[in-house]
Amino acid sequence: MNGQAPAAPRFGPARPSPPRPLPDEPLPDRLSAALDRALARPAAQQPQWPNPGAVHEVRTILEGVAPVVGADEVDRLRGHLAAVATGTGFLLQGGDCAETFAGTTERSIAGTVDTLYRMASALTSTTGLPVVTVGRLAGQYAKPRSSPTDAQGLPTYRGDIVNDSEATAEARIPDPHRMLRAYVNATAAMTVVRALRATRAVGGGAEAEFFTSHEALLLDYERSMLRIRGERRPYDLSAHFLWIGERTRQLDGAHLAFAELLTNPIGVKIGPTTTPEQAVAYVEHLDPYDEPGRLTLISRMGSAEVRRVLPPIVEKVTATGHAVVWQCDPMHGNTVQSRGGYKTRHFDRVLDEIRGFAEVHRTLGTHPGGLHVELTGADVTECLGGPQHLSPADLPHRYTTACDPRLNRTQAIELAVLAGEMLGAR
Ligand code: PEP
Ligand code: MN
Repeated sequence: MNGQAPAAPRFGPARPSPPRPLPDEPLPDRLSAALDRALARPAAQQPQWPNPGAVHEVRTILEGVAPVVGADEVDRLRGHLAAVATGTGFLLQGGDCAETFAGTTERSIAGTVDTLYRMASALTSTTGLPVVTVGRLAGQYAKPRSSPTDAQGLPTYRGDIVNDSEATAEARIPDPHRMLRAYVNATAAMTVVRALRATRAVGGGAEAEFFTSHEALLLDYERSMLRIRGERRPYDLSAHFLWIGERTRQLDGAHLAFAELLTNPIGVKIGPTTTPEQAVAYVEHLDPYDEPGRLTLISRMGSAEVRRVLPPIVEKVTATGHAVVWQCDPMHGNTVQSRGGYKTRHFDRVLDEIRGFAEVHRTLGTHPGGLHVELTGADVTECLGGPQHLSPADLPHRYTTACDPRLNRTQAIELAVLAGEMLGAR
């Protein structure tokens, strides 16, 4: 660093885009047929809606609404991710594990956006690379669960887009009308994000664009947000970037087949049981036209496994010649139960997974291009360690997550400073 304030993360000058034709009405027949084929495959983690007629009604409404994000914005993100995949940019993605309807306030959104921008500033000054910032925000309402019932024997909470977290049997009945509220909340969140940018109320002086993402889990919602915008494939305009989770990445499953149909950039979480052959299959399915940055492989191996499992995957994917974004999610492989029964993660383990990820890529000469973290701008006590040295006794104080434990603002910014040093080192 040369002592100056870090430059705002930027990618080359925006080219004026040619006017797009007016949005098409319903999906053309060939796409509807392809969609039906994709969704006829086995789909993991879908709710058992009690009333299929209501699902159909809700889908029909959502098929007609104005989308949450714009196709031009998605295209700009595609350009930025191409730069990341080819080693000249860095992808920072973060936000809640599960957003909630009640928790999506102006304050919480501003906190997440501000934290991400501060992290982006830290990363750009240590790596020397422009950072593209993507929130887990404005649509992260659906959750995969490891068990269909919770500790009390109730059907599990599957995210606010499906049911209610309240611990009663009635609250846990899936309600398709929640998809409408998810759409409205996501749109409102997007309005707040856009206003923050317009007023530059975000911290760090960063003027960079801000993109949104969520797990493309709930297929009834995602399919309703498909729109045709001139490209050969439709856009899912519920978010700029969508990812497939560790529990729904089956090669013959509906989630992968759905993602194949899209123009959006796609992520796939790869956990410690991923084989190099599977990773290559993801590349072949999701990047058939060889677009740098179309696919982000989100490694979430756990700090004890990343140095062993990741190298053969990176080698085999690199040998295909496809340019993917390699992103590290150091959260999901490092979740433990505290003595008091809280789901938590230790800052040191999180940091060690990033260290291992950076080592693997340095050894293989590939670009450790991204970081994917669960965080909030609030001063929660959900993850252990970090600059405040949070201990198990601190966890009950402000443990407010609707799902997985998040880094608080202080922990998140410190992580970005330390990660930048690891990821930028050559
Ligand atoms: C998540 O990102 O919240 C999640 C459930 O991750 P994974 O699919 O990697 O377990
Ligand atoms: Mn999570």
